[in-house]
Amino acid sequence: MITTFSGVVIRSCNSGESDRMITVLCAEYGKVTVLAKGARKTGSKFMSSASLYCYSTFTVQKEEEISFLREADAHNTFFGLHNSLPAIALAGYACAVCEDVATEDEGGMLMRLLLNTLFALSEGKKDIRIVKAAFELTVSCICGFLPDLSCCSICGGGISKESYLDVMNGTVICSDCKERLNGEKTANDGTASVICPITPTVITALRYIISADIKRIFSFSVGEDDLPMLEAVCEKYLLNHLERSFDALDFYKTVREV
Ligand SMILES: [Zn+2]
Repeated sequence: MITTFSGVVIRSCNSGESDRMITVLCAEYGKVTVLAKGARKTGSKFMSSASLYCYSTFTVQKEEEISFLREADAHNTFFGLHNSLPAIALAGYACAVCEDVATEDEGGMLMRLLLNTLFALSEGKKDIRIVKAAFELTVSCICGFLPDLSCCSICGGGISKESYLDVMNGTVICSDCKERLNGEKTANDGTASVICPITPTVITALRYIISADIKRIFSFSVGEDDLPMLEAVCEKYLLNHLERSFDALDFYKTVREV
């Protein structure tokens, strides 16, 4: 059976003497694993299309359990990523997250998000911290963890001053309700909950990210006072819902500090 689809290489591993085993994220089939024979040979027609981060149209032939790459037409290698170590490290983290959450049947939203993220990182015009935060929160939403940030989940009141994000419930709690809750709880209560303080500016940014079209999720700015909190909240939100951590994220943090 021969199929053609466009997608991003989210994993590329050496296989045999000169082959590459690639995982492609595409809209139609989600995550697809393909063997690119001879892709590591000098002059191979799959040299760039089978490389990590490359967006290509692939023609694949399935024989028994293995899909073999027959043709590939590279559209964007996101070459600009190679100009910045933090950008390429964050791209690696984004691919690892996509690989973790992608299913084997549908990947349209996820692929759009990844393409826009790779484009922003490759261009290098957006603050990388905003790209990371918006990517993480949007992945969470795609996975079904859309937070309700409209009002306090306990009293229904508006949020105008510092409040709290209840990560696991995906809700906001105003400072008055939080104080009341603290008074009511015994020391052992709520150990499984993850509560992050958030400023009104951070809530505004979170609301923007969850309501914007994927193409525009990075098109906002946040001052230096609030940016670290935005970054921390979005990361916590994603990792707690996925219940895991990523080596690629640790690597990104290491290179960010250099
Ligand atoms: Zn309240």
